[in-house]
Amino acid sequence: MSPSAVSRDFTSSPTLDTTSKLTKAGTESALSKVTSNGTTTTGNDDIVVADLDASKCTVTHPPTFKPVPALDSAEVLSQSCTTDHMLTARWTEAGGWEAPEIKPYGALSLMPTASVLHYATECFEGMKAYRGADGKVRLFRPDRNAKRFLKSATRISLPAFSTHEFLKCLQRFVGVEARRWLPVDEKDDERFVYLRPTMIATAPALGVQKPKEALMYIIAVLFPRLDEPRRMPPAGAALATNGANGHAVGATPRPSTGMRLLASQHDIIRAWPGGFGNAKVGANYGPSLIAQGEARARGYDQILWLFADECFVTEAGGSNFFVLWINEDGEKELITAPLGDGTILEGVTRASVLDLVRARGDVKVVERKFTMDEVVRAADQGRLLEGFGAGTAFFIAPVSDVHFRGLDVVFPLGKGEGAKFAMGIKDELKSIMYGRIQHEWGVVVEEL
Ligand SMILES: *Cc1c(COP(=O)(O)O)cnc(C)c1O
Repeated sequence: MSPSAVSRDFTSSPTLDTTSKLTKAGTESALSKVTSNGTTTTGNDDIVVADLDASKCTVTHPPTFKPVPALDSAEVLSQSCTTDHMLTARWTEAGGWEAPEIKPYGALSLMPTASVLHYATECFEGMKAYRGADGKVRLFRPDRNAKRFLKSATRISLPAFSTHEFLKCLQRFVGVEARRWLPVDEKDDERFVYLRPTMIATAPALGVQKPKEALMYIIAVLFPRLDEPRRMPPAGAALATNGANGHAVGATPRPSTGMRLLASQHDIIRAWPGGFGNAKVGANYGPSLIAQGEARARGYDQILWLFADECFVTEAGGSNFFVLWINEDGEKELITAPLGDGTILEGVTRASVLDLVRARGDVKVVERKFTMDEVVRAADQGRLLEGFGAGTAFFIAPVSDVHFRGLDVVFPLGKGEGAKFAMGIKDELKSIMYGRIQHEWGVVVEEL
């Protein structure tokens, strides 16, 4: 599709710019421009540019295929092992979406002036394709990722697209890669590849403005299992010296297993109301790496992001965060921070945990703001049962302890007990992902 297919007077046409894209209304206005017949309009009813169209997708194979490394190889651990192909689709303001291409994986060509390199006009998704026990390849609730991808793109003025066509492109790509990269293997029935749909603004111009060109691409990466840390204990770490009250001041507990979290300090915030913490954009990550680096250097796995003077508990690294406790009324309760004010990413795993536990009905489920003080008090009173991170990359990762400004809050897991609740949910989700139980959340991909 060539941009000349549509003519357009850029100097006078009203566009989405008439509504602030930095507001919820702006995002919603942009989303509403994806019309029911699948075309994307630019706000002027006379101008209709091409929507993403999976049926136009072409496939080109590389001359030779890469060797598929063993799952425990250094290459896989480095998270740099990509598959043979990538899918790309170009967009221009004048012409809309061009035909998607599945082609050999390789470098992108970008001008140094490209918007993404200066103004963080980048968003992404994180999902997995699973080779099931029944030999089929599945995606997990991919419609949710597609909708979120659109929401994130729109939040940073990247172009809208039909989520339906995006999903068809994604399935096509997975269908091409699955045979080699998700081999049917009797010994290992839990293989997956990590999928990274991405969108960047590519227009070569330094002006601070809504991008006029963009590139959507999808790559696949072999990932180690991040949900089962096989980390060596930090050298010379003191053994846990926890009092009966569940936390000890100044001690460095050494849990047998489980994720260790370092609570963020007053001077660093991941996301704030009205910000973009609820969009999956690269801009959320770069500025957080300094805190992540400190956590690693101190023997922790992730930052537990707190917000405001009240120390509201928000997310753990790039995962949503859950606590299972006995609440002040004596009820067993699963709690996580609520969506709505823009500080929490709407995780697919988060939604699935909430859905499963609500359906089961054995534990009260609440989405409300809660503070570190409440968690410390629960630990003090022996009411703290489990904590876990929930997200695609780390899956369900039980927490052993949280270091919170001089206090070590130790979960029962950190004292050698199990994390039965979290592991139960994890098993249930895995059964759906790997097709051990048939469920509408597991979407089978046709292999090519
Ligand atoms: C991606 C992400 C999550 C997890 O979302 P899933 O859809 O469950 O993978 C949680 N928090 C942040 C900040 C994220 O970027």
